[in-house]
Amino acid sequence: MLRGRESSIKRMETGGSNVRGAFVPPFVKKAMDGPGDNEAEGPLSARTLQMLAGPHGELPEALQKLDPRIVEMVCSEILDGKSSVQWDDIAGQDQAKRLVQELVVWPMLNPHLFKGARAPPKGLLLFGPPGTGKTLIGKAIAANISATFFSISASSLTSKWIGEGEKMVRALFAVAGCLQPSVIFIDEIDSVLSARKSEGEHEASRRMKTEMLIQMDGCDPSAADRRVLLVGATNRPEELDEAARRRMPKQLYIPLPCAAARAAMIERQLGPASGVSTTLSPADIAKIVEKTAGYSGSDMRALVQEACQGPVRDAVAHHAHKLADLLEADLRPLVLRDFQVAARAQRASVEALEIMRYEEYDAKHGARY
Ligand code: ADP
Repeated sequence: MLRGRESSIKRMETGGSNVRGAFVPPFVKKAMDGPGDNEAEGPLSARTLQMLAGPHGELPEALQKLDPRIVEMVCSEILDGKSSVQWDDIAGQDQAKRLVQELVVWPMLNPHLFKGARAPPKGLLLFGPPGTGKTLIGKAIAANISATFFSISASSLTSKWIGEGEKMVRALFAVAGCLQPSVIFIDEIDSVLSARKSEGEHEASRRMKTEMLIQMDGCDPSAADRRVLLVGATNRPEELDEAARRRMPKQLYIPLPCAAARAAMIERQLGPASGVSTTLSPADIAKIVEKTAGYSGSDMRALVQEACQGPVRDAVAHHAHKLADLLEADLRPLVLRDFQVAARAQRASVEALEIMRYEEYDAKHGARY
């Protein structure tokens, strides 16, 4: 099957054999001819066809009525391919990782076991401050079930693809259905499914929201013939409307990393693969961990990056004339002082007050372990 697809794509890319007027699949031809009586307006790229088309170059039925331009955008801008993030790459968040596996990974791996009373939720909501690993969790789910990963920020549906959001949503779920098992990760999902917009909202956003809710209804990871999982992420869970909450009944709080997680992040980022030489002792790491209470995962990453500049700055200060020739071996090891200096530039990005807001929401709506 794949071989058939590959060869038909190759034919398209190379213009077929040496014969002029090489075979062009009917759907593609129509798309190339320009708009017809369906919405087709442009051709699909060879890469997209390779992913989606059958052995004779025909698109799955679910995609044939869609605007190829939109299908192309989904494949080139939202489809992230196969993810390689492993659970161990995510520091801390142990409870969330365990619950996510039980709730959605197991059912995707064995849909037959998880039906009826054990049926998984159609969608999962991850909420919490920015930079705590929500996207990483989405990617790890996809990697765990060898699923195709689609990732989009919902705010881009309302800004970048303004006016086409509804079509994008429809095409996104259709393509995900064709490439299942699939995980659709929608960041800032509140910007599409917000309760606030219901009064006087723009017609196009209202239609997009309705389309999203319809498509979410169609997601059923326990159905053997439709294994598409929606993972929504938000920093503003309280803005979601009731209809959205009903469709994502499991809402998981992804908090700031605990001390052990922060230590693990530092150690991993400075591990052998980093090429950074350091003389940090366990006591130094403990001091950094203590000073970084309230830092998010992405703050920690930025802090380590900033600290790593310390030895470079020193080397440049001493050998400015041979900057271009400096090697890693010329740099002094990273020391605690580099972190103390870096912490002045890289502070915690999340306010304590915000954390209280998440904790309150979690107490009310959060899934329990
Ligand atoms: P979110 O989706 O919650 O805003 P991300 O998952 O995109 O955050 O994380 C942003 C970056 O911060 C990641 O690429 C990673 O480098 C770092 N990071 C955040 N949380 C973690 C974590 N728990 N473990 C390891 N790295 C993390």
